[in-house]
Amino acid sequence: MRLYAFFAGYEIADKSMLTLGRGLGVQVKIPFQFFLVEHPKARFLFDTGMNPAALSDPAHYPPTAQFGSYVTEADLAVNRLAEVALKPDDIELVINSHLHYDHAGGNCQFPQATFMVQYDEMQSAMCPEPWSGLVAENYARVDFDLPVRYDLLDGDYDVFGDGSARLIRTPGHTRGHQSLVLRLPNTGTMILAQDAVYLLENFERHILATTCFDQKAMYFSYRRLQDIQRLENALILPGHDIQAWEKLRHAPAYYD
Ligand SMILES: [Zn+2]
Repeated sequence: MRLYAFFAGYEIADKSMLTLGRGLGVQVKIPFQFFLVEHPKARFLFDTGMNPAALSDPAHYPPTAQFGSYVTEADLAVNRLAEVALKPDDIELVINSHLHYDHAGGNCQFPQATFMVQYDEMQSAMCPEPWSGLVAENYARVDFDLPVRYDLLDGDYDVFGDGSARLIRTPGHTRGHQSLVLRLPNTGTMILAQDAVYLLENFERHILATTCFDQKAMYFSYRRLQDIQRLENALILPGHDIQAWEKLRHAPAYYD
């Protein structure tokens, strides 16, 4: 089994958006990332990066108009996959950690794929809770309201049934967030936390994120991932940590 990590653009934000009540006035670079898992049985994407509309029509694509982002043609999922000689048709399964624009924006590039999402994430994205503020503002309906096949989950899920790729429910950042735990033959266990953990600092010091649906759930998701990290001596990759990203092996190089 192999894991490829792809860069999908970035944003500049105030650090206090990532670490609640801390880092006010400090500007940080926030990378977007998505992954390809190649398993002997099948391959899948974990997230899809940004919507092409962020480039072609930024003024009318709500997240770009609101948050600003730095995305190039090369950063779009289809073009990143070309770097490992894959075409959109080669992707039969896409798993979304959650449906925010920097994770599900590229879904429209894979119209033939089946999409695996937690049921309550889809519910929350389609009809955002009116009190959820920034969490709601990060959903762009055009990203996920697509004529594709959805395979909705209600809880943890073992993708191949052999323990090598497990989806772990990690609510908090959003209502139905999920993280991916991979057991790679040579590398060992890797936790792709995505936005269950914004920065390593959030995880290590139990600092909540500002964009948060449920603070208590976020705290217990940290605890849950920490248990896996400890028991399996796992490497954890946060969702938007530039230092962690820079240390990572990037596609076309891979982990196996
Ligand atoms: Zn994100």
